[in-house]
Amino acid sequence: MRFFKGELKDLIVDLKAIATISQLKRVSIRVDWAKREESIKLYLKTRRLSNLDIILSGIPKKYKSKITEILKKRANNPAKSNYDRIYIATLFTFYWDITIKTIEFAKSITDNINNIYVGGVMASLMKNEIHETTGVQPYTGLLDRPGILDAGNPLIIDELSLDYSILDEIDYEYPTKSAYFTYMTKGCTRKCAFCSVPKLEPTYKNKIESIDKFNEVKSKYGDQRNLMLMDNNVLASPKFHEIIQEIKEMGFHKNATYIEPNQLEISVENLRKRTNNVAFIRRTHKLIHDLRGRLKDQDLIIYCKFLKRFKLENLTDVTRENILAVYPHISEIYDRNRRKSPLTRYVDFNQGVDARYVTEDIMKLMAEIPIKPLRIAFDHIGIKSTYIKAVELAAKYGIRDLSNYILYNFMDKPEDFYERIKINADLGKRLNIQIFSFPMKYIPLFGEEAKHRRHIGPHWNKKFIRAVQSMLNATKGIVAPGYDYFEMAFGNTLEKFIELLWMPESYIINRMYFQNNLMTNKWREDFAALDDHEKIEAKQIIVKSDFKEIKALTKNPKILKLLSHYLNVKGDKVIIDLQVRKLRNKFNRLIRRDIFVDLTLTHDFDSKKKNTLRIA
Ligand code: SF4
Repeated sequence: MRFFKGELKDLIVDLKAIATISQLKRVSIRVDWAKREESIKLYLKTRRLSNLDIILSGIPKKYKSKITEILKKRANNPAKSNYDRIYIATLFTFYWDITIKTIEFAKSITDNINNIYVGGVMASLMKNEIHETTGVQPYTGLLDRPGILDAGNPLIIDELSLDYSILDEIDYEYPTKSAYFTYMTKGCTRKCAFCSVPKLEPTYKNKIESIDKFNEVKSKYGDQRNLMLMDNNVLASPKFHEIIQEIKEMGFHKNATYIEPNQLEISVENLRKRTNNVAFIRRTHKLIHDLRGRLKDQDLIIYCKFLKRFKLENLTDVTRENILAVYPHISEIYDRNRRKSPLTRYVDFNQGVDARYVTEDIMKLMAEIPIKPLRIAFDHIGIKSTYIKAVELAAKYGIRDLSNYILYNFMDKPEDFYERIKINADLGKRLNIQIFSFPMKYIPLFGEEAKHRRHIGPHWNKKFIRAVQSMLNATKGIVAPGYDYFEMAFGNTLEKFIELLWMPESYIINRMYFQNNLMTNKWREDFAALDDHEKIEAKQIIVKSDFKEIKALTKNPKILKLLSHYLNVKGDKVIIDLQVRKLRNKFNRLIRRDIFVDLTLTHDFDSKKKNTLRIA
């Protein structure tokens, strides 16, 4: 079995490279193939002769023709996988293009289309479209009954504990780091029109047994630091008090701490049991090398000597056997020098909690576990008073780190969007708490508009959407806590916010720079110089946010003068404003430091999120 995230083509190249290198080692064991690994991959992928030359440079003449022959043969071999099945997990519907491309590639490496299993969110929402486009019949909904994938198999896939080892099969590091993933409930009691949960998980289950799965994960992969709960609406459960009790039994009570177990010992034990050799070879290699940076003096000398003797320096050379052989020699040094300081544990109801279910008793219960952050949904202005009350209760019971998604571009108006952000800034100041907000642009769940991110809600337009993204550009989509930040980013009044929506993007992003250059004032003057009719005409052009051919858009010289500001792309791609650059660096540091912020980045600003494939 093999898990992969990213371009499926790259997995095929990786696998080809492993087989090629093992064949090349039989030609010469003296050549350092690990150093040439990347060039080998590039050659297998591109068949470019320049890459072949790089591989061959420095290799004795007598081996060159044999090596060339092997490489050419491998590179020209059509990519066919040896896998019985290819599972493709689909995510957001707007990943349509990359998902279809992936399914098509999967088709090209298997002889039987029925070996491709497509499931997940997009597959459940766009089943017919996927089938019509690719010929593959996707699986919809949950795998919560026996025999869904394999007739006669009694296992219920949704009830299995997660296989954490697969995360080590890939280079991508999940921002969650050390965490248990589970859910205590399934589905939701509500049917919000913008949400896919009622379609994906139509039946609300108010309590799912989790403790056995939790203990199984703990014994197989070691204790994890944090608890990520993926429930869609946990507060709707009449058994919420039992849920809190179970969370505490898992070791997540107020002020709980965590000491990292001996990861090397766990990894080696898994190698002994042959749990997942690909993953645990990679993991062990990483752990061994991470510790090297902490060692000094004699420990470092001895440790490095063993790594060299047992060929553990390059991942390509590492085998299960040489890890098991070196372990008795380095285990004592590893255990003595590994991190043992206690760390605070956190619980994250990652999908947010529903303010409408919050009561004094519920908040008291939540305060008994180390929640960080408490994510309270603020999807529309209609729940304003309920939301404010929930935040006040959180503050009353000592929960000081809060976070929320602000849905916009649905049925809301830009004014509502501003009001919700302002409410958070006001609450933060009044209650002395931190509220991070994450504006999230609505994208339809079905139809053509679901396949991309270009949908514009009835009260929004392209320019306003881009303006909001420009306001959030420096902070990667995060509305940081603090009144000063709020006023600086969104304006201290609704009028200022509306003005920002009309402002050229480069003037929004590099605010101080263009203000200091008086360009922003000139833009204001040029706007103010228009009469009412001209303003209407100018706004009709601006909302389309396409300024490539402004002369074709109007003959009016006053409007053309105004539009010329929108051509000023200086600073649109590059941040030239020193203050904005500082802000961006500050937020980059924050995202690196705080996994809970990183985890919440929305898709408009997070380029790391890619499609995920599982191959078995
Ligand atoms: S309450 Fe939340 S999970 Fe439930 S339908 Fe509404 S948005 Fe979706």
